[in-house]
Amino acid sequence: MNSQRHRRGQVAEVFRHRFHDRPTLWCRAPGRVDLMGSHTDYNLGYVLTLPIGCDTWIAARPRTDRSVRLYTMNLGAESGFSLDRIAPDSQQRWNNYVRGVAQVLQADGFKLTGFDGVIHSTVPLSSGLSSSAALECVTATVFEALGGWKLDSVRKAVLCQRAENQFVGVNCGVLDQYTSCAGQEGCALLLDCRDLSSRPVKLAPGIGVVICDMRSKRELAGSEYGRRRADCKEGARRLGVKALREISPAEFYRRAGELPSGVAKRCQFIIEESERVLDLAAALQHFDRAAIRRLTAESFDGARDLYEISVPAMQTMVQAMMQAPGAMGARQAGAGFGGCMVAFVEEAQVKNFAAAVREAYFTSIRIKPEIYPVAAAAGAGTIT
Ligand code: ADP
Ligand code: MG
Repeated sequence: MNSQRHRRGQVAEVFRHRFHDRPTLWCRAPGRVDLMGSHTDYNLGYVLTLPIGCDTWIAARPRTDRSVRLYTMNLGAESGFSLDRIAPDSQQRWNNYVRGVAQVLQADGFKLTGFDGVIHSTVPLSSGLSSSAALECVTATVFEALGGWKLDSVRKAVLCQRAENQFVGVNCGVLDQYTSCAGQEGCALLLDCRDLSSRPVKLAPGIGVVICDMRSKRELAGSEYGRRRADCKEGARRLGVKALREISPAEFYRRAGELPSGVAKRCQFIIEESERVLDLAAALQHFDRAAIRRLTAESFDGARDLYEISVPAMQTMVQAMMQAPGAMGARQAGAGFGGCMVAFVEEAQVKNFAAAVREAYFTSIRIKPEIYPVAAAAGAGTIT
């Protein structure tokens, strides 16, 4: 792959310029897109998730002292810290994803080695494709390779999530880190967030996955995310369960009257969305067009009307996607409030689909979207 070689050459060149040497270790971790299952992870439900070819690399060289120095090509910024005194960096907040991982690994008893590193990512930052988890998971992979110990992928994911929760201070579920660590090339993962087990799901040949980044400003995502989590917690408490996962759709419809109407809407979305995950996994395996269309539409409508995580650009984008050639289904991705959406497209039509979406979306709101056809990539690891 020429583009990979080119990328490697560029990163090596930056490394030489910053650190006057060659990297001896290359690691990568992918971003992800959820194919179904918005906000189900923290309700311990199901998610169908896809590790994607956009990924984050760290080229590294171990140091003999206990310091970690990192330069990120995406932001053109450098930050360093000592493994003996890990405190948050209030100026360069991006470095906290790295520091957090170092901190939780050490707290769990892993021996860490300092290193010089250059970060380069093809995951767009802050678009909902999980650049933060990719950065955490690639960092853990570097420490793992330099330390000569091995973490199983689920534990690695949980530790990286802890880093984001406790050190960065973002109360995310485990979906992003799990996908980035446990992905298998060529497969989506059907993740059960209750016991953190997953099974690979192979999409039927001929189904393309296309991510459409709306490039609109994402606002509210942080504060509203916290409110949605609180609503779900309240719903679970009133229904007498630990998590909404414990309630089947049939039971929910019987008992919805026990909930204040706002909370009931949130719970309905989560409980139905988690069921849709299982249904969509089957539909994608069997190329069931009608089901793909129906399930994605129900997910999008529920996100707008019940979970209320939609913004006007998402409506514009879903229309552009569904009117484009080859479209089988389209829905939101990530936490909502803008960012990215995802479509299932007849593989032979992916190019035409992308051109049509670009044109229609730009004509409507004068913003150029970014369109990424994606394939299932492997989880975090070293690059040979
Ligand atoms: P998402 O995970 O959806 O991309 P987040 O807000 O969770 O969005 O994470 C984005 C943040 O992660 C960035 O603002 C930055 O601090 C950090 N980050 C991710 N990738 C990189 C990178 N390659 N270089 C530096 N910082 C990064
Ligand atoms: Mg993130």
